[in-house]
Amino acid sequence: MLRALLLSMSRNASVRRLVERAPVSRDVVRRYVAGTTVDDAVRVTADLAAEGLTVSLDHLGEDTTEFGHAEATTKAYATLLARLGERDLATRAEVSVKLSAIGQALDESMALDNARAICDAAAAVGTTVTLDMEDHTTTDSTLGVLRELRADFPWVGAVLQAYLHRTEADCRDLAHAGSRVRLCKGAYKEPESVAYQRRLDVDRSYVRCLRVLLEGDGYPMIATHDPRLVRIAAALIERTDRSQGSYEFQMLYGIRPAEQLRLAASGETVRVYAPYGDEWYGYLMRRLAERPANIQFFLRSLVSTS
Ligand SMILES: Cc1cc2nc3c(=O)[nH]c(=O)nc-3n(C[C@H](O)[C@H](O)[C@H](O)COP(=O)(O)OP(=O)(O)OC[C@H]3O[C@@H](n4cnc5c(N)ncnc54)[C@H](O)[C@@H]3O)c2cc1C
Repeated sequence: MLRALLLSMSRNASVRRLVERAPVSRDVVRRYVAGTTVDDAVRVTADLAAEGLTVSLDHLGEDTTEFGHAEATTKAYATLLARLGERDLATRAEVSVKLSAIGQALDESMALDNARAICDAAAAVGTTVTLDMEDHTTTDSTLGVLRELRADFPWVGAVLQAYLHRTEADCRDLAHAGSRVRLCKGAYKEPESVAYQRRLDVDRSYVRCLRVLLEGDGYPMIATHDPRLVRIAAALIERTDRSQGSYEFQMLYGIRPAEQLRLAASGETVRVYAPYGDEWYGYLMRRLAERPANIQFFLRSLVSTS
């Protein structure tokens, strides 16, 4: 119930204004967001790299409805990538991009052009790009853009969400050599017609999808903080004879940092997804929806400060 409420609030403009102005938001934001500026993003990347971790940076923003905004986001990625190159961090960090932030809802071909510009900037410094996956109404469009991009940039990564009924089949399509696929549970509010609703069903789907990816020839990116799924992944990795470096674990900035370091210390490649920028609202709401323990505290504080 609370999860569904928070996820619908994540797209409500009035609630957005209320939450953005509430002082308590700042503390919660700091936990999940690596800062607001490109300098913050580069500094956090250097810190994480020094701890033996790799990074995927997300310039926050989504559901863009203005052409100028989509262009500004594209430029922000190009600036970030150039800075990573200058600081010799491009071997440790890539970028994650939401197509909705670079114009997908306005004009798909413009989003494709913007994504190409970001891929050019990544190629120039020798790193990669992963396309985040958003709600199910965008899945076909995002996979279509991915196909187009891969013709020129075969290293572009995809994200598949285990909660969607379609995902096991998508995993089969994408489990080929050279294909980088991040598997996550899925963070949006989706109807029963397209997505599993019970946690157990989502987890079972995650395991089926992970098996397809690990048995395939691609590069699976195992994105979860769920201790049980991490254990199952380790067992499947052993069973499929995968060597370290032929897959990676991924977790979000600020979530289970000790586990990130433990996995890295055991020789695993661990990538931390680190968002930065001013437009943290939608991202924060999805993180709160995942963690019931944080929600009550946050809502109580909101009511008492507004
Ligand atoms: C690298 C990465 C990239 C992602 N990209 C996408 C994407 O493109 N599209 C998409 O839809 N989703 C994306 N997600 C989010 C994902 O779909 C899940 O919503 C999120 O990872 C929570 O699921 P979980 O697998 O960690 O399992 P859960 O069962 O939600 O969590 C397992 C445990 O992890 C800890 N935990 C989880 N979330 C939190 C939190 N917010 N705060 C504190 N502790 C927490 C808790 O200990 C919890 O018990 C991404 C996740 C990661 C790690």
